[in-house]
Amino acid sequence: MKLEHYIGGAHVPSVSGATFATLEPATNTEYATVAAGDAQDVEAAVAAARTAFTEGPWPRMPAAERAAVLRRIGAAIESRDDRIAAIECRDTGLPITQARGQAHRAAQNFRFFADVITTLGENVYRVASAQLNYVVRKPVGVAGLITPWNTPFMLETWKLAPALAAGCPVVLKPAEWSPLSAGLLPEIMEEAGLPTGVFNIVHGIGEEAGAALVAHPDVPVISFTGETGTGQIIMRSAAAHLKTLSMELGGKSPLVVFDDADLERALDAAVFGVFSLNGERCTASSRVLVQDTIYDTFVARLAERAARVRVGSPDDPATELGALIHPEHYARVMDYVRVGMEEGARLVAGGEPPTGLPGGNFLSATVFADVTPEMRIFQEEIFGPVVCVTPFSTEEEAVRLANATRYGLAAYLWTNDLRRTHRMTQVIEAGMLWVNSQNVRDLRTPFGGVKASGLGREGGHHSIDVYTESHIVHVATEDLPIPRFGVA
Ligand code: NDP
Repeated sequence: MKLEHYIGGAHVPSVSGATFATLEPATNTEYATVAAGDAQDVEAAVAAARTAFTEGPWPRMPAAERAAVLRRIGAAIESRDDRIAAIECRDTGLPITQARGQAHRAAQNFRFFADVITTLGENVYRVASAQLNYVVRKPVGVAGLITPWNTPFMLETWKLAPALAAGCPVVLKPAEWSPLSAGLLPEIMEEAGLPTGVFNIVHGIGEEAGAALVAHPDVPVISFTGETGTGQIIMRSAAAHLKTLSMELGGKSPLVVFDDADLERALDAAVFGVFSLNGERCTASSRVLVQDTIYDTFVARLAERAARVRVGSPDDPATELGALIHPEHYARVMDYVRVGMEEGARLVAGGEPPTGLPGGNFLSATVFADVTPEMRIFQEEIFGPVVCVTPFSTEEEAVRLANATRYGLAAYLWTNDLRRTHRMTQVIEAGMLWVNSQNVRDLRTPFGGVKASGLGREGGHHSIDVYTESHIVHVATEDLPIPRFGVA
């Protein structure tokens, strides 16, 4: 299998001819060769997108016409649901049932932003001193979209849909470890009738292709999802051109369980929250904080449930936990398991590859109990099926522990005490909180984190804000008195 860049409506190899190989996480065998782009390929893609911006119809098209194209993109995705899910499952190691859910969400992203762009108004301010001020939203220009390897297709479309809805041509740099599903986007865009040059892909290594995109002066906006450290590098480079940045970064999200909660449901949410999507999920509830009165019981039940999570071949519909993305990432996750044991945390489930699955990046659902805030496994994002459990006794201690990392993406609170709920939601440092619920998203609501988990929000009109500039026009409706300088 061979995958090339898609620039100005054509599939092209790298100017340098360079390629890289991708591995199948379930077996670690190579199965595709992908063009490895560098600054020259990025230059060509940005030039194509720039022409589409300055000369093409897309940025000037009425919102309703753009929305019609977006809806056709949604339909084209839907008609390929099974193919997208199968490719994604093979390329990422995600269980097939979960890959299907992600493909479904990708189609929804386009339909949703078609609705957003057709219902979004612009503001008018009537000023008492006989002025009418109105705001015009304009697409910013070429948008650079840089995405990570977990749930690649869904995250790519989460950026593509609003950028295109806003009228921006785009250059997408997919993740190097899971580039394959993006390979379906050119035919999807063509089938939907997106004008040539509006959608471009440059594959490649982040430090080369991604860095060149960030550094390019004709790309005024970068939307990035990935690690906090990469986000910091991108901010430094983007500062040279004062680019608009949207940063969705790492997390170490707490799930806090009080003894008055519905413990059965809290347990379901804790297991789902950290072991779905292979634990390779930015909003994973990777720290479970449990009130001391129920701690021993909860830990025992969590361990029991984790031991029963079905680890298996990603393409088996019965599999709940598939193969981690890459041997390098797998080694990193396994190293955290070793660190956890060395730090004195109590391993109560998993910690080892399951038997009978040789060759792939498999790890049983892993639970560490008695984890303390100084431990690295409490502080650092593991991004795998590993959960840390920590006891607390009071509400104040729960808040302190919840806030005790540098991250602030999501938090999950399980309690039936109404007043406590509202006290805690005010002081937990997280961009998104769920109360007595697992992670369920409505696409209208702001998505993003605080502290080291990100900058800015996407979702609903927040995404459109990223890809548009507001121009304010001030019009005098009567002769206003003008201070007369230089007449004396
Ligand atoms: P990385 O930060 O390693 O990579 C993300 C993307 O950035 C990849 O396409 C990567 O290319 C590229 N990249 C790497 N270096 C540079 C650079 N110097 N300049 C420009 N681009 C670069 O993240 P991962 O792919 O490892 O994804 C996992 C991370 O993503 C986790 O921290 C996770 O929490 C976070 N994430 C956050 C989400 C959120 O919404 N907050 C959602 C999902 C994930 P390459 O593939 O070649 O490395």
